[in-house]
Amino acid sequence: MMMPQAGPAGQAAAVGSRAEALIGWALRDVAPHLACFNPDCRRRFRLDQVVYSCADCGSLLEVANDFEGTDPECFLLEWKARRRSLRTIDVSGVWRFREMLPFVRDPARIVSLPEGNTPLFDAPRAASYAGLDGLSFKHQGYNPTGSFKDNGMTAGVTQAVSLGMRRVACVSTGNTSASMAAYAAAAGMQAVIFLPAGKIAYGKLAQALEYGALTIQVEANFDEILALVRKLADEVGIYLLNSINPFRIEGQKSIVIEMLEQRDWRVPDWVVLPGGNLGNISALGKGLRELRQVGLIRDLPRIAVVQAAGSAPFAAQFRDGGELRPVIGPETLATAIRIGNPVSWRKAGSEISAASGLVDAVSEQEIADAKAVIGRCGFGCEPASAATLAGIRKLVRRGSIAADADVVGVLTGHLLKDPDYVYRYHSGELQAPSGEPVHPTLGNPPVTVPNDRSRIAEMLRRSEG
Ligand SMILES: *Cc1c(COP(=O)(O)O)cnc(C)c1O
Ligand SMILES: [Zn+2]
Repeated sequence: MMMPQAGPAGQAAAVGSRAEALIGWALRDVAPHLACFNPDCRRRFRLDQVVYSCADCGSLLEVANDFEGTDPECFLLEWKARRRSLRTIDVSGVWRFREMLPFVRDPARIVSLPEGNTPLFDAPRAASYAGLDGLSFKHQGYNPTGSFKDNGMTAGVTQAVSLGMRRVACVSTGNTSASMAAYAAAAGMQAVIFLPAGKIAYGKLAQALEYGALTIQVEANFDEILALVRKLADEVGIYLLNSINPFRIEGQKSIVIEMLEQRDWRVPDWVVLPGGNLGNISALGKGLRELRQVGLIRDLPRIAVVQAAGSAPFAAQFRDGGELRPVIGPETLATAIRIGNPVSWRKAGSEISAASGLVDAVSEQEIADAKAVIGRCGFGCEPASAATLAGIRKLVRRGSIAADADVVGVLTGHLLKDPDYVYRYHSGELQAPSGEPVHPTLGNPPVTVPNDRSRIAEMLRRSEG
């Protein structure tokens, strides 16, 4: 475990009056800083240094916060009061919780669209599909650019502004670029996007172009391009906003903060989410541990990460132990999790052990059918998000998740991100990367009819209930 842990939740309340607690919180001598994530190193860096990995050992960095001695009641009162405010940073589902993101010193610099405030849906239809009594979904597709990347990007671009950067860049399977392009545009910065040529969902590419990003398609896969751009960023002086960026992780913590607030701070038994580069699980775990340190929750939920079988190095490592062995040439139609060499696997591994978590993988067929079920719930999601429900179903069948467990699934992206996939599935044309057909188990193809009123009327009678 990397963070100092709080004592019992009641301890903080004994600190004294609210005002004293707030002052104590503001004057703590352990101000937020960057720290090497490697427990044997922990080298510190200042927040205003442009570094992505540790100069000593090469590990990823994290924003180190210290919430020791905070009064959770103060935070709750502040967050509740902001619900009545009309200011963008109070409306935002990230910055409404800004006490949890103390790296921002000057709120005037915050770049917000505003993000977050995503629904927590009750999904009985998906619950019965998974074999659960009940199931709810935190749907991050309801963000300004349609994915949870916005929760992180508002923080990453805000940091870029604080650093005085003029250009930001990322390598992306799609949603990161769409999000970065939007926030850079809002901040008046240039966005430079590197994409694997021909391997990106159309909706996401469309967004990047429309938001005005310089879009460079490279003939290499995600992992290769990331290695290239990490070198390039230093050479050319561009701020990198990939998931190695620790400030994005800070923003993404808000997903779990908001979810717990929506549940009146009742901790579920399980939180389940898809895993690609594993930034989101890292953020979720850090957010939960910090909420525990603040005293807003006592226990951590268990966490399950679900990968696509053709891109599942983290699931393999969880099963086999040892170091992560990258998958060369990762494949899945769920392009947002088509990652063979996830950069955040050490952080993710440490969060999985802190939360007694599980990692598993699901097939293309399981993802496709789960996605169609989520569609029938009335909201839908993109393919990578559906790995969540496919994974829950698998874990329930295997007995890892009890049928009466309190489960929240995170849906990461919007249905319209990948319309091509949707159409192919429903019309029976979807093919897995292996060339094998994906069966349209819940297929709902469009029907073409001649201009013949009586035949259409007959068809409508037959299709009724
Ligand atoms: C980025 C993304 C993921 C994967 O998240 P990681 O942080 O890379 O593990 C999953 N689903 C969607 C829709 C995404 O955009
Ligand atoms: Zn280090």
